[in-house]
Amino acid sequence: MEFDVAIIGTGPAGLQAAIHAARKKVSVVVLGKVVNSAMTGTHVENYFGVPGVKDGDGILADGIAQAKGFGCTFVEYNVTAAEDLGGRFLITAEDDSTYEVKSVVIATGVSRKTLGVPG
Ligand SMILES: Cc1cc2nc3c(=O)[nH]c(=O)nc-3n(C[C@H](O)[C@H](O)[C@H](O)COP(=O)(O)OP(=O)(O)OC[C@H]3O[C@@H](n4cnc5c(N)ncnc54)[C@H](O)[C@@H]3O)c2cc1C
Repeated sequence: MEFDVAIIGTGPAGLQAAIHAARKKVSVVVLGKVVNSAMTGTHVENYFGVPGVKDGDGILADGIAQAKGFGCTFVEYNVTAAEDLGGRFLITAEDDSTYEVKSVVIATGVSRKTLGVPG
């Protein structure tokens, strides 16, 4: 399938990028598993414009619904490969589906470095 933009990651960064891109009238595919977002299972009370304590899952669900409302397509698989075709990119997901896109936004969050000291 062909899209203008592929966004890898369905956390707050990926969803915000998806919403901004879709509002510019480009076609957007968002890939990844929301359950792997660092926000899953959290309680949030410091977001601007979101008063009180909200559960992170609810904020993510609202973000996904908002992005879908602007026309974003969601693929709930991890990306296993991204190939530069020279001007375009070929994105492959773990179900072997492929997406040819003009731009890629990588919003895959962070992983913590541990000291490697045995517990
Ligand atoms: C316990 C806890 C409490 C927190 N509380 C707060 C709080 O109160 N307020 C606050 O502002 N922040 C809080 N945070 C931090 C907040 O969750 C992170 O800042 C935020 O989730 C970062 O967003 P992100 O989109 O950069 O990354 P993430 O939310 O981690 O999203 C990364 C995404 O990338 C995807 N991904 C990774 N690899 C691939 C791949 N190969 N293919 C496809 N997708 C991939 C993952 O599936 C995930 O969807 C908390 C975090 C934790 C752990």
